[in-house]
Amino acid sequence: MHKTDTDNQIRLEQLKNIYQLFDQTMASFDVVCEEKCATCCTCNVTMTQLEAQYITLSLQQDEKEKLCKRISNFFPLERYRPEITMNGFARSCIEDKDIPEEENNPEWGKCPLLTDDRCTIYPYRPFGCRALLSEANCKKNGYAQVPEIGQTYQNIFMQAIEHLDQGNSYGNLSDMMTVLLNIDLEKNIDGNSLLINEPVTVMMIPPEHRKKIEPVINHLIHIIQIQA
Ligand code: SF4
Repeated sequence: MHKTDTDNQIRLEQLKNIYQLFDQTMASFDVVCEEKCATCCTCNVTMTQLEAQYITLSLQQDEKEKLCKRISNFFPLERYRPEITMNGFARSCIEDKDIPEEENNPEWGKCPLLTDDRCTIYPYRPFGCRALLSEANCKKNGYAQVPEIGQTYQNIFMQAIEHLDQGNSYGNLSDMMTVLLNIDLEKNIDGNSLLINEPVTVMMIPPEHRKKIEPVINHLIHIIQIQA
């Protein structure tokens, strides 16, 4: 799908508005995440092409060069490579199609963009990172604790972001950056397996959450103008 610079600019503004709405929505949750906790910053984070563009367009030339070096030097050979997008998953469920199996292991390593337990692109980090919030200390428990309705919010925001970038790619952060920035990796990275973003066909909302999240859904629809 061909998108003009103006289209892209509008979609980047819409993306920023979605991030802002997510932050406002999650502000009422009792989250314990704090500075310099990078437990969830693994090499398994994924993102859309639009989010990758948001990062690269926001950085100064020298910051971009540093980012390229980090990806190149710390490219994770083992990493989560999604087999299906969120909207693809929702569509497959209603079409009663098989869901592909995926491999994901936090022990595959840290995110290449993490330095001294700090994110080097924090203001521009993708939704996959923003969504990683916990109501209990992950280091102590070994996992993040997100209330069920918080997971529903994460799903619908991810669906909206994918919808906004439909026709473009989705995949692991390192793969996406390598492609977008034309990073010439010396290592053999075994294919980048990027997927294509799909439009929303059905929102993944359990019936018991519908009423509560309706105002946020309406706001999201307003931002990305999903046709009902
Ligand atoms: S991009 Fe930043 S916030 Fe996201 S996983 Fe990497 S270091 Fe963490």
